[in-house]
Amino acid sequence: MNGTNKYIVNIECNQCGERFVLKGRMKKGKVETGFKKCLCDNQDEFDISQEELF
Ligand SMILES: [Zn+2]
Repeated sequence: MNGTNKYIVNIECNQCGERFVLKGRMKKGKVETGFKKCLCDNQDEFDISQEELF
């Protein structure tokens, strides 16, 4: 409710298999990490999971 919840976001590229672990914050109902694209230029095909930090 206070807008400061932090999340760990795990992103796995479905094209090259690269994995990224990012920290994000919930804004306007979704977690923002600043992640744009993979090293292989993939921008759309990802497996994403996130967990809230308490
Ligand atoms: Zn990739």
